[in-house]
Amino acid sequence: MSEPATTTEVLVIGGGPAGAAAGYWLARQGHAVTIVERKTFPREKTCGDGLTPRAVHQLDEMGLTTQLARYHRYNGLRATGMGRELELQWPSHPIYPQHGYVVRRRELDQMVAQNAVAAGATLLVGHEAVQPIVERGFVRGATVQTSAGTTVEINAKYVVVADGANSRFGRALGTFRTREWPYGTAIRTYWPSPRHAEPWIESALDVKDRNGNPMPGYGWIFPVGDGTVNIGVGLLSTFRDFKSVNTTHLLDAYAHQVADRWEIDPGKPECKATSGRIPMGGSVGPKAGPSYLVVGDASGSVNPFNGEGIDYAYETAHMAAQVLHEALVTDDPTLLQNYSQMLDDEYGDYFKVARLFARVIGRPALMRELTRAGMHSRTLMEWVLRIMANLLRPDELGPAELAYKAAARIVSLAPNA
Ligand SMILES: Cc1cc2nc3c(=O)[nH]c(=O)nc-3n(C[C@H](O)[C@H](O)[C@H](O)COP(=O)(O)OP(=O)(O)OC[C@H]3O[C@@H](n4cnc5c(N)ncnc54)[C@H](O)[C@@H]3O)c2cc1C
Repeated sequence: MSEPATTTEVLVIGGGPAGAAAGYWLARQGHAVTIVERKTFPREKTCGDGLTPRAVHQLDEMGLTTQLARYHRYNGLRATGMGRELELQWPSHPIYPQHGYVVRRRELDQMVAQNAVAAGATLLVGHEAVQPIVERGFVRGATVQTSAGTTVEINAKYVVVADGANSRFGRALGTFRTREWPYGTAIRTYWPSPRHAEPWIESALDVKDRNGNPMPGYGWIFPVGDGTVNIGVGLLSTFRDFKSVNTTHLLDAYAHQVADRWEIDPGKPECKATSGRIPMGGSVGPKAGPSYLVVGDASGSVNPFNGEGIDYAYETAHMAAQVLHEALVTDDPTLLQNYSQMLDDEYGDYFKVARLFARVIGRPALMRELTRAGMHSRTLMEWVLRIMANLLRPDELGPAELAYKAAARIVSLAPNA
């Protein structure tokens, strides 16, 4: 059964971080914007739940500072490896705060989506965009299936594609992932732990099996502050044995490795572990069509250094909304083409360096040497954190900025890999 067609200025496909942020910023500019989300909030999303200073900054910009303060705030990263530990405060920066939060995505995504609604966006949950509406080569909305089994056509001047890592809607418009570039996969679940409110998120550079043999991948423990910790492991496609690694076994090995320190029962997680793919380094494109823009995971906007994508989802959505606002007020659709250039200016070089790094650490011997060197030098690790979290200062040239610039110069001579 189909319902009467509706019309909006901008239709956003997906109500996760990217879609909700796009909806918020467009509504704030006074535009009619409709977000369709196939699930119903609150909904789970497989994630580490870690918000870095860049993500916190975007949430602050969206007016969510007070609501965010209800959740678990942390100071920085504890790196572990080679039998050592280093606690590293988030670096100071003129724009980004020196703290992060850990918020379950079930709660975070609902909060951000509701904020978009409060700003004036229409949010249709239980609505799945099943097919683009294309008129004379221009995407003009989507056919949407409701949870009641009805279909409705939502017509729009512009479309924002924010449907996440698998991005079926994006694929229907012709987006594709550059297959030679690295991507990631990660798995996580929650364990009750008395250390659930620690002020550090933890990352392990050496995951070991129960016999103490090194395994490819890195592990994380993010204290959620609600009686539980989020524990997960991530792998890059550049790692040895990537395709044959069983991530469930890897997580099990890591949970046993950290069980005593974190006082968890590795056999008793709160729920079954779930995993997801992580497109990264801007690997999906094109980012813009004549009447649509692609944001968040759907555009591969995840940092290859650490797999963080919530902040990039918010940021790319913010930029897309700015471009769409200008196109709407000037009635000039050609402005949409500026978006790809904006992304390239903002992330192009950085993602290129990060993709190279992903290849370097895919070599176990090099990874071991880097870990050994890093874990023996706090100063070196402070630079590394600044680079990996994309918190380089634009106003000062410190050692991290100089090291990054040197890497960027080398990478600029390398082919785009
Ligand atoms: C295991 C794991 C751990 C991670 N840990 C972190 C972390 O700690 N910190 C961090 O910053 N990043 C992390 N990431 C990455 C982060 O989860 C993503 O980058 C982020 O969710 C991207 O937001 P998004 O809005 O682009 O996509 P999503 O969060 O995937 O949202 C897309 C939304 O679109 C909806 N949707 C899809 N198709 C349709 C359709 N056709 N119609 C309507 N709705 C649709 C989906 O239901 C979903 O709600 C992790 C990823 C994984 C897999």
